[in-house]
Amino acid sequence: MAGMSFFIDTTRCTACRGCQIACKNWNQNGAGMTKNLGSHQNPPDLDENTFKLVRFSESEVNGKPVWYFFADQCRHCLEPPCKDAIAGYVDGGVIHDEETGAVVYTEKSKEAPIDDVRGACPYDIPRARQDGRIVKCTMCLDRVKNGLIPACVKVCPTEAMNFGTRESMLELAQKRLAYLKAKYPKAQLLDPDEVRVIYLVVDDPAKYHSHAVASLGSGIDRKLALRRLFRPAKTLAQSFRLV
Ligand code: SF4
Ligand code: SF4
Repeated sequence: MAGMSFFIDTTRCTACRGCQIACKNWNQNGAGMTKNLGSHQNPPDLDENTFKLVRFSESEVNGKPVWYFFADQCRHCLEPPCKDAIAGYVDGGVIHDEETGAVVYTEKSKEAPIDDVRGACPYDIPRARQDGRIVKCTMCLDRVKNGLIPACVKVCPTEAMNFGTRESMLELAQKRLAYLKAKYPKAQLLDPDEVRVIYLVVDDPAKYHSHAVASLGSGIDRKLALRRLFRPAKTLAQSFRLV
C-alpha cells in the first residue's frame, strides 16, 4: 500500500505562514502565550496548539545573507518510532491508517509518557497537552477521508505545499530536484525513503533546522533500540492483564 504523501518545496516558500494558521484553524487549536525572539519565527517552537510551524533561519552564501524557511510538521514516517514508543505503554494509542499511511494519536496516548514518545521521534515533533494527551499533525485525516486535501496545502499560495499519492509526490519531488540541482549543487530531498512528508532544500539541512533530517537529531537509527526497549514493557503489561 503506497498511501499518500506531502512534498514541501522550501524554495517556493515565502514564509507567509498561511499553512501554520490554516492548521491551527482546522484543528481548532487555541492561541498560546508566545514571545518575539527577534526573528520572523513565532511561536518559538511547536507546542500543544501549534502542529505546524514555519521555521526561519538566516544564513550566508558567498558572503551574502540568505533566509531559509522550513514549514515543520510530523513526517508521518513509514515506520513510525513514536508508534512503537506509545505501544510500549498502551494498546490503541496510535492509529496508523492503512489507506493513507497517516499516523494519528488517540485519547489513549495520554497513558504514554511524553518524554519517551518525543525522544523516540527523529524529528522532535510530539507535544503533550495539559491533560497528558499527546498531539501533532494528523495529516488532516478527517479532510482526506472525505476527498479534501490537508488544510495547510489548501491555503499555500505558492505551491510550496503539495499533497497526493506517494507515487505522484515522489515524481514531483524528483522533477523539482533535477531542475534545481543545476543551480544549487547541494539541493536534496530529506529522508524520502523514510517519510511521507518529503522536503526539498538547496543547502545543508542543518542550516534550515536542527531536526530537518533524522540523522541530525535523536535519529531514526534509534528505532530498533527503542523497539527492543519498549516491547518488553508491553509484554509485561499484557501478562499482568492475563493473570
Ligand atoms: S515524525 Fe515523529 S511524530 Fe511523526 S510519525 Fe515520525 S516519529 Fe511519529
Ligand atoms: S503557506 Fe506555503 S508559502 Fe506560506 S509559509 Fe506555508 S509553505 Fe510557505
